[in-house]
Amino acid sequence: MTNKDLADLIFPNITKTIEDYEKMYPKRKLDEGACVTRFAPSPTGYMHLGGFFQALIDFNIAKSSNGIFYLRNEDTDQKREVDKAVELIMETLKHYDIIPDEYEYKGEIVGEYGPYIQSERKEIYHTFIKHLIEIGRAYPCFCTKDEINEMRSTQEERKMRPGYYGRFARCNNMSVDEAIKRIKNNEPYVIRFRSNGDFENKIIFNDLVKGRLHLNENDIDDVIMKSDNLLPTYHFAHVVDDYLMHTTHVVRGEEWLPSVTKHIQMFEAFGFEPPKYIHTPLIVKKDGGSIRKISKRKDPEASMSYYDELGYPTLAVIESLMTIINSNYEIWHTENPDKTFLDFKFNPEKMSSSGALYDLDKLDNISKDIISKMSAKELFEKSYEWAKKYSESLTSIIEKDKKYYTSILNIEREKVKPRKDIAKYYDIENLIWYMYDDIYFNKDLEYEWQKITDKEEIKKILKTYISKYYNVESQESWFDKVKKLADELGYASNMKEYKNNPELFKGNVADIATVLRVALTSKSNTPDLYEIMNLFGKERVENRYNKLIEKF
Ligand code: GLU
Repeated sequence: MTNKDLADLIFPNITKTIEDYEKMYPKRKLDEGACVTRFAPSPTGYMHLGGFFQALIDFNIAKSSNGIFYLRNEDTDQKREVDKAVELIMETLKHYDIIPDEYEYKGEIVGEYGPYIQSERKEIYHTFIKHLIEIGRAYPCFCTKDEINEMRSTQEERKMRPGYYGRFARCNNMSVDEAIKRIKNNEPYVIRFRSNGDFENKIIFNDLVKGRLHLNENDIDDVIMKSDNLLPTYHFAHVVDDYLMHTTHVVRGEEWLPSVTKHIQMFEAFGFEPPKYIHTPLIVKKDGGSIRKISKRKDPEASMSYYDELGYPTLAVIESLMTIINSNYEIWHTENPDKTFLDFKFNPEKMSSSGALYDLDKLDNISKDIISKMSAKELFEKSYEWAKKYSESLTSIIEKDKKYYTSILNIEREKVKPRKDIAKYYDIENLIWYMYDDIYFNKDLEYEWQKITDKEEIKKILKTYISKYYNVESQESWFDKVKKLADELGYASNMKEYKNNPELFKGNVADIATVLRVALTSKSNTPDLYEIMNLFGKERVENRYNKLIEKF
């Protein structure tokens, strides 16, 4: 009996050949230098920041080279729930406008190189495995779970490398006749790759991020097809899929680096050229004095849903990740303020090979900057959309009076130096609630008085203000009047004079302005007071001041 007999016995229904598939999935017609990348998540029902980070790199490489970025669902581990998970991945990508050129979603296949869901590619994998069996580079393994566990314990006890290799690879030496007999006997088996490697040999591997590495050749006969669902393992599916889909650059987490020698060996067994690899570093964070991996268990920011729930603009999240993708990104962006991240050319050499340090404060700063540059209309739309999804209270505030809400957002906006106080839509309610009388008067207000705290003095200031200082045409003329008020009550209107002779005054005009601000809003820090007063109008300002005077 020959290997061919064995292959036919295992895959009696496989009639296609590798060449058939090569014809079905011909070389892509792309420009010279165009890159083909893929995002290949396992649908677990969780979208990790690290996965999105990789997708962003994939997207950037493909878009900046006029290439193709596709989505492949790696669902060969079918114990997990798949449908919802695929939806989460696709919806997240869409939310960020990282739209794959090719994908399979809700029954629709876009692209000529599908199916893009691994569980639908069984026949393809079987064809490739059949070929390996025929050429003697794969074989059935009948070792039971117990036998494998026993092998592991022996290796542990003797402090040996773990794995199915050398004399531990028992079924490697089984004759074809025996294998056929046992299969006919209905004994369960998996298919293993026959490595032929020597662990003592060093091979040179070039990773685009990690550089030139000397790695031990693989000698482990890994499982490539599982016995229960007859689906391939990751290692094998990666080789077949990235070959047939013509991936030029594989961007994946560095946890796969130790397996790369297996993959290269499999590519070689088929006579295929392996793709280029970009093994991305872990995303890490500062935690007290140390730096550690961002973890799904401990850190809410590990999940992409975190950013959506808090209402970060998508661009802020992307920009913050770009700064840790390439160390030169920030400088580039400062020099090219009108360009987008898509104009930036990703350079793997500018990526940290040890760990990408993600910083939420930095995200906040980037985000404040982006939100400050939005028009009031744009911010209205984005924050309203967010509120409808995540905040009933902000929704009801907005829906009371959309025009008024937009006017609030417009304070110190659409200017050369706009106000930068909003990092995320979630912050808005806390920054504007006092602009609404119904909320304001139903709250236990905590007045943030500063230097002037005496109630009689405050009353005097407010009464004087009410009696004299309305009807102002401009910010300048208004502030002139506040200065006059300061003079009248014995406060310095001129800061220089005040600094030279503080003992001559009760205080200065800034103290007066603070009283006017706190009495109107309860807060010591607000956007421009004149603009708030203008928005309120005389009656509401007067009403708030009078109510406070009464209360005192
Ligand atoms: N399915 C693998 C994972 O989620 C993908 C690794 C790769 O991109 O090749 O880790």
